[in-house]
Amino acid sequence: MSLHKRLKTDVLIIGTGLAAISVALHLPNGMQALLVTKGTQRQTNSMRAQGGIASAQLEKNHEAHSADTIRAAKNRTNPSTVDFVTREGRTVISELEAFGVKFDRKKQGDYAVGREGAHGIPRIFHSGGDRTGRQMMEQLLKKMNHPVLEQTVITRLLTADGRVVGAAGYEGDERIEISARAVVLASGGIGGLLLTSTNDDMITGDGLALAADVGAELSDLGYIQHHPTILVHQGKSAGLITEALRGAGAYLMTRDGRRVMDHHPEGDLAARDEVAAAITAIRKQESVYLNTTPVAQLAERFPTFVQKCEKLNINPGLVEVTTGVHFLMGGIKTNLAGQTSVAGLYAVGETASIGLHGTNRLASNSLLECFVMGKALARQLQLPPRRALPTLRPIFGCEDGVSKQQLSEVLAVELQEDRLQAALEQLTNKSFRQTGRRAEQHRLQITTARLLLEGALHRLKGEQLTNEQMAPAATT
Ligand SMILES: Cc1cc2nc3c(=O)[nH]c(=O)nc-3n(C[C@H](O)[C@H](O)[C@H](O)COP(=O)(O)OP(=O)(O)OC[C@H]3O[C@@H](n4cnc5c(N)ncnc54)[C@H](O)[C@@H]3O)c2cc1C
Repeated sequence: MSLHKRLKTDVLIIGTGLAAISVALHLPNGMQALLVTKGTQRQTNSMRAQGGIASAQLEKNHEAHSADTIRAAKNRTNPSTVDFVTREGRTVISELEAFGVKFDRKKQGDYAVGREGAHGIPRIFHSGGDRTGRQMMEQLLKKMNHPVLEQTVITRLLTADGRVVGAAGYEGDERIEISARAVVLASGGIGGLLLTSTNDDMITGDGLALAADVGAELSDLGYIQHHPTILVHQGKSAGLITEALRGAGAYLMTRDGRRVMDHHPEGDLAARDEVAAAITAIRKQESVYLNTTPVAQLAERFPTFVQKCEKLNINPGLVEVTTGVHFLMGGIKTNLAGQTSVAGLYAVGETASIGLHGTNRLASNSLLECFVMGKALARQLQLPPRRALPTLRPIFGCEDGVSKQQLSEVLAVELQEDRLQAALEQLTNKSFRQTGRRAEQHRLQITTARLLLEGALHRLKGEQLTNEQMAPAATT
């Protein structure tokens, strides 16, 4: 099999989102890194982030942030992880500012922090109103000076002597093989696999399948966060509406003015899973709307939202909303240095599972996790001696892709065991034969879909899933 390109680096980073860039920015001087991304370096969920980044910088200590994280996660976190991330989080704003990121301030000069669901107080720092992801990423990409290979999809990790020693895939349609002393999966979440998602279509959980292929431990895959407010336009979803709007006074209501979250002590700022469940229940009978009229300076503070409404010719004062797939709480299990259970393989950001988010991520804790854990990984990374480039093993692809429609119906806010089981049986019977970029991408997606269905079934049974419990994929 002829290869188009063979490359070598110290650290191969799969992804160009905030987690990947944080690793790259914090690697010791002299350590080489190469970043790869399926699309352009800007096609990431990190660029899409709106509300902001949570930090206890303005508080006496990180304890209240830590307590809110644990409460939103229904106590299913690793307390030492929560302690670590929220404590380290106290300095992220000044660290990002040192890289040139500018956070919004009030006229008097104080930070203009916002509040989102399940945060006891305002602690969300934002940039450019609801353009935080874009503003932050553009600035950090300018500061990052490692090379990036765009339009490059990784479809296999390479192993030698039980260690991950590189990765293989396609640059465009040409085969590529990259050997590395460490491989970092910073490949994001799973939303692109499902319909009505806030994610970029390219974010399809590949990291989970790649990690499972080499036997890395995964955890908590049954916990998918559904965002409560996705804009509805002509019956279709038209993108995320930031929760910061509810933090600024907007509220959910039915057409006749009944408040959707009236039953809850935290009202419209209850945790995301509780708001999503309330909206899902009401939408079985009637539509749900977000009333933004109480928000002062709407266009100035929420330009992304207002411009989207203008483009769609919708009145931004009252918009119809539905729930949509947003974030995966579980992922590839790592310690606080980003190490997975397989030597040479690291994971960071949304694809990793460090025990921070439990069953429901606290709003704006994801960008925080990406930056803090990227830095922690880079600072603790120990590389083995350089070794020879391994030979690529044969690759199998699959015959057809995953049905987004069917997956989205079963991986919904309300899970049903018989439907999950039926979808899983259908996917388990798929066979893998062809090779080529498309076929291999489909194989990754089917593997990830199976992992998520297994995760959801284990969640219903009240168990935690590790991938050792899964049946192997059918091959021919
Ligand atoms: C609309 C929206 C709004 C959000 N708002 C907020 C917010 O305000 N605050 C907050 O904290 N969080 C927010 N989130 C969540 C947060 O943005 C993400 O969880 C976070 O940015 C994930 O970063 P990441 O670096 O892990 O992955 P991403 O930024 O998603 O990047 C993944 C990268 O991996 C690459 N990749 C994937 N698979 C492969 C492969 N096989 N080969 C090569 N490359 C691959 C992709 O091309 C991409 O470069 C939001 C998410 C969305 C979608």
